[in-house]
Amino acid sequence: MAHNGSTLAMNTFFIARTACPACRSPRRETVYACDYLANPVRDFLVNYYRQSGRLNLAYLEGVRYLLEECCDCGLVYQSQVPSDSLNEILYREKPIPPPPEERGHSLSYHARNVEQLMSLAAHLSRKSSNIRICDFGFGWAEWISLAVALGFQACGCELTEVKKEFARSRGVQVMEWDQIPGAGFDYIHCDWVFEHLREPRDTLEQLVRGLRVGGIIMISVPYRHHIQRRLKANNWSARRDSRNCLNAVHPMEHINCWEGRSLDRMAAACGLCPTKIPIFRQRMILSWDEPREAVKSVLRPFYHNWYPRYDERYFARTV
Ligand SMILES: [Zn+2]
Repeated sequence: MAHNGSTLAMNTFFIARTACPACRSPRRETVYACDYLANPVRDFLVNYYRQSGRLNLAYLEGVRYLLEECCDCGLVYQSQVPSDSLNEILYREKPIPPPPEERGHSLSYHARNVEQLMSLAAHLSRKSSNIRICDFGFGWAEWISLAVALGFQACGCELTEVKKEFARSRGVQVMEWDQIPGAGFDYIHCDWVFEHLREPRDTLEQLVRGLRVGGIIMISVPYRHHIQRRLKANNWSARRDSRNCLNAVHPMEHINCWEGRSLDRMAAACGLCPTKIPIFRQRMILSWDEPREAVKSVLRPFYHNWYPRYDERYFARTV
């Protein structure tokens, strides 16, 4: 079923995306359609925003929650998305996860990030102090703070002022969007950012301008396995990580639902080619008092070498 998004004219808080934001193709199929003010979407949003603030439902009047699947690259995307003014309002209203010290992550959680940074340094064959990295959308600066602690030249970009201040207090250099071109980064880290962006391809083009030739960018996105089946189940109260969870298409939040092919095509259009860190360069932290976890850690790089992850991909700048 084709859809042209014309119903949007009546609500200035939303913008219509009439083509795929990754590959620019206008060819698409509607895979889910529902009024924002009809259930189950209405209840999902009311419940989500109840946790911190309150969403004024008047913003959603007359707008449809429409999921389109691009016929060319497979991206599933929301075609009616919040304008800048509504995004500002939503930013104020939505629940913000607490800072790291209140979340109390386990050491194993941090160890995965340390492994990733050590693997990167091994792959680039340089001391961390000679590696320039950027965390684009650093959140509460957990990953980039570790990079600072390990001696990397580390900086990052973030929208929220309170998070920027927090990052500065951890020794992170905060950058603005227009400082990215020509920065000559060896590595850019984008962890769960591209699902939020109204114009992801424009953003990627800007980030590529900040990479040196040969530099690497990592893009990770929410898990979307079997999204068609999940949409058919239509269980909007399914818990995170459960079989029917619809977090990957969270209305107005996760407006792009990526698969490997859609990321690869967008990256190719921006002068990037897929790359990976070879197994012999990968570093791991093992806890032999938890033998099952230790064995999984050893096998993980081999598994992902044979079955590359669609939700965490590495690309290198070629030109
Ligand atoms: Zn596409």
